[in-house]
Amino acid sequence: MGQFLSSPSKSGSRILPRKTEHDITESSSDLGHPQTVLDGLPVLKKAKGHYWYPTKGPKILDACGGAAVACLGHGRRDIVKAVTAQMESYTYASYAHFQTTPVQELSDWLTKSTGGQMQKVYVMCSGSEAIEAALKLSVEYFRWKGEPERVNFIARLDSYHGTTLGSLSVSGHHTRREPFHPLLSPTHFHHIPACNPYREDTTTTTTTTTSPTSLSTYLSHKTAQLEAAFTHLGPHTVAAVVLEPVVGAALACMPAPAGYLAAMKAVCARHGALLVLDEVMCGMGRTGWGVVPDLQAVAKGFAGGYVPASALLVGGKVAGLMEREGRVFTHGHTYQNHPVVAAAALAVQRAVEREGLLGNVRVQGELLGRLLRERLGAHPNVGDVRGRGLFWGVEFVKDRGTKEPFEPGLGVAERVQKAAVREFKVLVYHGQGCAGGGRGDHIMIMPAYTISAKLVAEIVERVAGAIEEVFRRL
Ligand code: PLP
Repeated sequence: MGQFLSSPSKSGSRILPRKTEHDITESSSDLGHPQTVLDGLPVLKKAKGHYWYPTKGPKILDACGGAAVACLGHGRRDIVKAVTAQMESYTYASYAHFQTTPVQELSDWLTKSTGGQMQKVYVMCSGSEAIEAALKLSVEYFRWKGEPERVNFIARLDSYHGTTLGSLSVSGHHTRREPFHPLLSPTHFHHIPACNPYREDTTTTTTTTTSPTSLSTYLSHKTAQLEAAFTHLGPHTVAAVVLEPVVGAALACMPAPAGYLAAMKAVCARHGALLVLDEVMCGMGRTGWGVVPDLQAVAKGFAGGYVPASALLVGGKVAGLMEREGRVFTHGHTYQNHPVVAAAALAVQRAVEREGLLGNVRVQGELLGRLLRERLGAHPNVGDVRGRGLFWGVEFVKDRGTKEPFEPGLGVAERVQKAAVREFKVLVYHGQGCAGGGRGDHIMIMPAYTISAKLVAEIVERVAGAIEEVFRRL
């Protein structure tokens, strides 16, 4: 036992001799990691502050916190202490048997920080779980309300809401859906076009130049698309509209233009449907906007990666009915309302508040956006630089005039990511699909809220160096 490691690979299951920790300085794709994108991934020894330290080679500057997770940076002793203290009191308690102080305190903190707009909290362990819960609670809410025919959802193309079958069904992410198509319900999930001003508005070359008149025309156009979906499905059958306020993995930090979310909310209100905002990637201080949803899913920066954590926040309309009628949501994971998860999230959120980090996100976010645009805005293969807060994306194109994307087989985004980490020692997040239908390459830059101006400038220099190098070689 323990002598061999069995791991699946493209050619099927294989038996490999197990390496000792000393042997492993660079992993190889032979190890068959289920999501290997890079061959020769560095093996990690430790992470501290804004740096990853591999077992071999120099430290790597963290410009993305994994997938926008590490919002406080790595290895904070105060967070580790808070988690450890909770584990020393009790490590687990079933939500069906006990109320726990960390969950109670976290719920109170979240309710207070939303000014009482969100009134109920379910603590979970992943963004996909929070979205699944949002879908199910929407349906159950309408059953309680006497509208059981409301079982349909409207979401957008080029969106990502999770990896489980319900959350993937509501997602409009072409490449992540494609292998599982037969399992994804086409009946209850309807997709409208993405909100992508860069690619929809042919009169502008970037997401930043939309004029007030073209903005109002654009918003009317997007409202009409959502109205058409309600008409198509029958407005009385729609439970909720599900949106990412700033689209993450599918569209590389694409913010909704001013007024868009309010316009979508107004359509939902007109037809009596709920608005679900998926703030798994862009939320908990990373970006910020002003629309209050009926249900809100958060994760990633919620506990900053110190433990796997997410939550579904329930607004007054749904929570009020539950309260008045004494309803209980028919839903529960074994690890729901886990006290250690709640303790970690609470410690992270209190640190964000205590250290005034939202102010830093605003200041450094503006700097990051400005420097990225200054440094890369004129590059012939950079189509768009967009974002909000500390959430910025760079989209690559073959031709800036036509906005034609590269062939997916070229793997442009992956090449940039590899060059960045291997040669310029900076970690960015990369993806494909931002031009629709699985085409289009992008990277995302999402540093911790504690980042300094000096490190922002260094990130931009290193990332720009990697981009220039890749296109020089292409
Ligand atoms: N929603 C959004 C917007 C996401 O970006 C993600 C993950 O990237 C999810 C949901 C799913 O979260 P998780 O991977 O934690 O299940």
